[in-house]
Amino acid sequence: MVVANYRPTKAIIHTQAIQENVANERKRLPKETELFAVVKANGYGHGAVETAKAALRGGATGFCVAALDEGIELREAGLTEPILVLSIVEPMYSELALSYDLAVTVGTQEGLEEISKVMAHSEVEGLLKIHLKADTGMGRIGFLSSEEMNEAIQTMERSKKLLWEGLFTHFSTADQSDDTYWQHQLERFTEILQGLPKKPRYIHTSNSATALWHDAGIGNMVRYGVAMYGLNPSGNVLEAPYPLKPALELVSSLIQVKKLPKGEGIGYGETYITPEAEWIGTVPIGYADGWLRKMQGFHLLVQGEPCEIVGRVCMDQLMIRLPKEYSIGTKVTLIGANNGKSITMQEVADHLETIHYEVACTLSARVPRNYE
Ligand code: PLP
Repeated sequence: MVVANYRPTKAIIHTQAIQENVANERKRLPKETELFAVVKANGYGHGAVETAKAALRGGATGFCVAALDEGIELREAGLTEPILVLSIVEPMYSELALSYDLAVTVGTQEGLEEISKVMAHSEVEGLLKIHLKADTGMGRIGFLSSEEMNEAIQTMERSKKLLWEGLFTHFSTADQSDDTYWQHQLERFTEILQGLPKKPRYIHTSNSATALWHDAGIGNMVRYGVAMYGLNPSGNVLEAPYPLKPALELVSSLIQVKKLPKGEGIGYGETYITPEAEWIGTVPIGYADGWLRKMQGFHLLVQGEPCEIVGRVCMDQLMIRLPKEYSIGTKVTLIGANNGKSITMQEVADHLETIHYEVACTLSARVPRNYE
């Protein structure tokens, strides 16, 4: 997809904020615990490579991605730290994973046997690193018991091309104030761990929420994701133990300003009709940029003034009601600070009745990411 560089709409990514968020988390972790920065989905929309580099400066020692291609992107950008692909990689791509030194996740014995078969014929040097995933209550991917895992461990030991590098699980409620289910998952993981004859190099149970509110669970590595971008994993529910600095600002500017008389329809479907003569400004961002139609009625900032989005959000543009005439080129803030006022990604998420993770990931590739 083309990046619209010749347009005032931009996501400004503050890499220093990412670095600081990681450094603040690092300070709280035991010395021997490693922090892998989760940069899947293009670094939650912030840009994977730049985010990864900022995380390294903050003290990250490895990365997690969701797709093989995302790991390859990091390697091709010259990053040499350990990388784990969190989702299942189809066995036919195992050799490719090894050739880029990407560790893969395995959640079933059948999947492991397929990988083992593929790798038996591999001429790529080295060992394919495997992290076994335990499903302790997420119901997504993973082994359910230590018996199943013991079989997998034996399969890896028989293979000359596989290395058991990690064991992990994922908590589904770590961002909630009631920790009953979190404790239940922890117990299941502990049981599994106790039923295994040995341990791999990495044991990891912690996403951002577990790191922030559960002393990083158990293990010697955390998978630090959304908090690194300065977003509170719980939304508004729990207070983070240190201030999280939001890394992403979304800005544009007015490309047309006009005074419309009373009774004029704005946007597709004539869903807003000026109740009196009004100044209307047009902003070049729309649902093709990930600024969804449901954002109608939300307020953007122009010189610190909240300006309502009136009429339907179009594919590439939207209209706002201005308190007065502004000149073409006046800055419009969609996320971030503007003249002492600010809009958070959480507020956008609340308006959309979703979570900020989704807002960040929905910003499309057309929006340039400028790094500061
Ligand atoms: N670990 C796994 C397995 C994940 O799927 C994710 C994100 O979805 C993370 C870690 C990071 O989670 P968070 O962004 O909440 O820190």
